[in-house]
Amino acid sequence: MLKPRVQVRQRQRPPLHLLPLGGCGEIGMNLTLYGYQDHWIAVDCGMMIRQDLPEGPLQVPDTESLASLGICPEMLVITHGHEDHIGAVAWLWPKWRCPIIATPLAAGLLRAKFAERELETSSLQIIEVDEGFESGPFALRLLPLTHSIPESCSLLIVTPEYRVMHTGDWKLDPEPLIGEPTDPERYQALAPVDLVVGDSTNAPLPGHSRSEGEVARALEKTLAGCRGRVVVTCFASNLARILALGRAAARNGRRVTLLGRSMERMVRVARGLGYLEDFPPLVPVKDLGYLPPEEVMVIATGSQGEPRAALSRLANSRHPDFELAAGDTVIFSSKAIPGNELAIGKLHNALTRLGVGIMEEKQFPDLHASGHPAQEELRTFYGWLKPTRLLPVHGEYRHQLAHTQVAQSLGIEAPLIPVNGDVIRLDAQGLSVEKRLTLQERIIEHDKVRPLDSMDRRARARLGRHGSVSLALPLTLQEAGWVRIGRLMLDVSGTARLDEDSFAEWLDDTLAGLETTDIDTVKQQLNSRINRWLRNHLRHEPVLFLHVMTMGDLFFGGRPRRFGWSLTRSSTERPASIIASRISASLRSLAISSSRRCSSSSAFCSMTSLMTSESLCSCSMDNWRAAARATFLLRAIFSRDSAVILLPPPCGRNWNPMRDTIVDWMLQQSISLN
Ligand SMILES: [Zn+2]
Ligand SMILES: [Zn+2]
Repeated sequence: MLKPRVQVRQRQRPPLHLLPLGGCGEIGMNLTLYGYQDHWIAVDCGMMIRQDLPEGPLQVPDTESLASLGICPEMLVITHGHEDHIGAVAWLWPKWRCPIIATPLAAGLLRAKFAERELETSSLQIIEVDEGFESGPFALRLLPLTHSIPESCSLLIVTPEYRVMHTGDWKLDPEPLIGEPTDPERYQALAPVDLVVGDSTNAPLPGHSRSEGEVARALEKTLAGCRGRVVVTCFASNLARILALGRAAARNGRRVTLLGRSMERMVRVARGLGYLEDFPPLVPVKDLGYLPPEEVMVIATGSQGEPRAALSRLANSRHPDFELAAGDTVIFSSKAIPGNELAIGKLHNALTRLGVGIMEEKQFPDLHASGHPAQEELRTFYGWLKPTRLLPVHGEYRHQLAHTQVAQSLGIEAPLIPVNGDVIRLDAQGLSVEKRLTLQERIIEHDKVRPLDSMDRRARARLGRHGSVSLALPLTLQEAGWVRIGRLMLDVSGTARLDEDSFAEWLDDTLAGLETTDIDTVKQQLNSRINRWLRNHLRHEPVLFLHVMTMGDLFFGGRPRRFGWSLTRSSTERPASIIASRISASLRSLAISSSRRCSSSSAFCSMTSLMTSESLCSCSMDNWRAAARATFLLRAIFSRDSAVILLPPPCGRNWNPMRDTIVDWMLQQSISLN
């Protein structure tokens, strides 16, 4: 019998695949996939802000082609908590639903993002640095490496054949303020590695990045020389800088206030984890006015000129509680990210117009330190790791190119400058590109990930309109432009949750940017812009009821006059009929109090009769509660020849039928006219 011939063949080493979907050729939205024998893991999942597009939408990596390639990551590992590394997780991860591994700070920040999107967080797994973990054939380990946010890590990826060091973002900081300096021995012990996938951001720069400790000393010295109030702007995530500023303020007899939601969130999460322990107590922004100027220091977001951030609002005198004045100083403890120069220039102009002094990195380089390695650090680090090959990521082409040159000067192979979508193969022959996926630009619109080129009207029209948003907008024209008065009077029904804070911020910016004094033009322009904002921020496009009114009419004899009423707790316990009659009386007396407003009184009488009618009293809820809600719900503002009834959000589900009745009635009566 013929025996099958035994073939003795050298065993083929299975290749390791790398697939960067973001962060190559750009700074922002990092996402790299690693595949080995049909198992895939993802490292980081970031976003970037498209300042070049109207409204500055978020862009996230295009992961659409993964499914057709049979790729679904079995694990997502996060190197650190910066937006360009975690910002897209809440958008892209729901398709994968795999475990997410992160250190406590990054996990805390992710948890806040998941809560905003109502995602469950059970897949988030907190891991301490240096603890090994596994996914399929991958043995993994997060190693501490200094950067500009605590708990930054590199990731060691080991398969039976390859050892890869994915650096994440890093620098070698001998004095990081928070956490320990990088330990050379930890990395020397790993040498030699087969491949480094490394941060290219500062590869064109000779020398060594500045330490956070140095910046802290410079800031303290600078602060000592400032007279009036001081605002320092830096990246919200740079906790070491924020800590340095807190300490410098305390030593200079200044109290600290934080401005900007992202900064407040970052500090809250960090404090919860025990960071910033010696940070001085914060002064609420509302109390700043009580402090002498030389005792004030504000740390604000907005160093990149973002129009919605705290610093832009201050520069344009649009902050409700705090105003900058001549003699104050704004310190930029940050660097301009390429592409933001124009916006930052505008910010400088606005500040200069106020007579505010500006100190920035260009003249005072020691006020900021980059979080990325310059050439000397690259040489030191690669000296420890002794990599055979380099794949330069995290940077634009020129950064990647400079990175390959540094590597080659050290005898490290660097044959490729990867582009997003490159399916890269590492095998015995080294690195090669197997194919290039065609990627689309994907942005967040309508609370969903969408291709950028789909932003056309027809596509939007097809989505249809859902729900309604009623907005009553009392405005006044001031020297600086249109300004909103009072709190936001917004009534949302049958549509997705709306973030009132960010809407209000956006609205204020939009109003300030309107270049017309004509109220009809204001209405027209607002209508289309609010519609656009709603389309971009809600899952559906709601029907908008916009009631704009100028408040000049409300000022009688130069004195603002307030209308309105409220019920004390005890009075809410009276029967509905009594309360309703009180409302009725209030309305009548208000309507009659100025003879010029008689034309409106009939409208108010109709309104009151509606209030006292069966429809209210026969509500299924307790009568007194219905009536109490009615009183809080309705605020009548009288003007010379019209009336506007503002409907704040309903207090409870039961109120909706009544509110709808009122809205219908208002529309019938054309009450909501200016
Ligand atoms: Zn980064
Ligand atoms: Zn970073």
